[in-house]
Amino acid sequence: MATVWFVGAGPGDPDLITVKGRALLERAGAILYAGSLVDRAAMRYAPPGCEIRDSRDMTLEAINAWLIAAAARCDTVVRLQTGDPGLYGALTEMSRALDAAGVAWKVVPGVSSALAAAAAAGETLTLPELTQTVILTRVAGRTPMPPREDLAALAAHGTTLCIFLSITLLHEVQAALRAAGWAEDAPVLVVHKASWPGEEKIVRGTLADIKKKCQAEKIASQAMIIASPALGARERDGVARSRLYDPAFGHRYRRVAVPGGAT
Ligand code: SAH
Repeated sequence: MATVWFVGAGPGDPDLITVKGRALLERAGAILYAGSLVDRAAMRYAPPGCEIRDSRDMTLEAINAWLIAAAARCDTVVRLQTGDPGLYGALTEMSRALDAAGVAWKVVPGVSSALAAAAAAGETLTLPELTQTVILTRVAGRTPMPPREDLAALAAHGTTLCIFLSITLLHEVQAALRAAGWAEDAPVLVVHKASWPGEEKIVRGTLADIKKKCQAEKIASQAMIIASPALGARERDGVARSRLYDPAFGHRYRRVAVPGGAT
């Protein structure tokens, strides 16, 4: 029976798709990929004769009709999405249509751009005693934000914020962080095209200057904004260390070393 696979392509570098996602592309009869962000993975791994289509100019209705028609012809249909399909990926809108048409579907997760951006900059999103929580969010664009998810309210927690789809609204991000009491010198990171070989840009700044720095780098799309008290921590003294690796902190896989005793 045919299955439509919603596959996370990862953030851009074709090597960052999962092994499972790549195997599905290699046996796909039809691939519908989401715009230029993921075409390289589709082209590189698709078998000869596979039908490949960019969904960039398609409406949701056209996408759903394409997937349903492809499932009538091929056993393996891949809907290839950027990053992870569960983040800003219209998964529900597509899977509901497949359910209604009686077409089976499954999801293969992918490396989100939030994680790829942190990796590109060598940053950790959590750090003991500073922040142990990551909020993945955006500011309102054409898609409105639910009332309780106003960025200023979320930023008031002082946790790590990974802000998607908002690089053209950086002034609103700045205003929200200020309203939440973040200092002008709070570190803010912007990564454009994280993981794209030769195209990635990493901009490190502060709440005060990040917009100017991004303008200077001409970054106006495909960018992740990260604001976090953990940014740049490796350059600061006195940062708490993870208890997981603390010699005094035993767990299932490592017993505490007792001075003068056996381990
Ligand atoms: N599902 C995707 C997000 C899709 S929404 C994921 O998990 O990453 C599109 C937004 O994701 C962009 O506006 C940008 O904020 C971010 N994005 C996607 N790819 C990116 C990349 N390679 N580098 C930086 N940001 C990226």
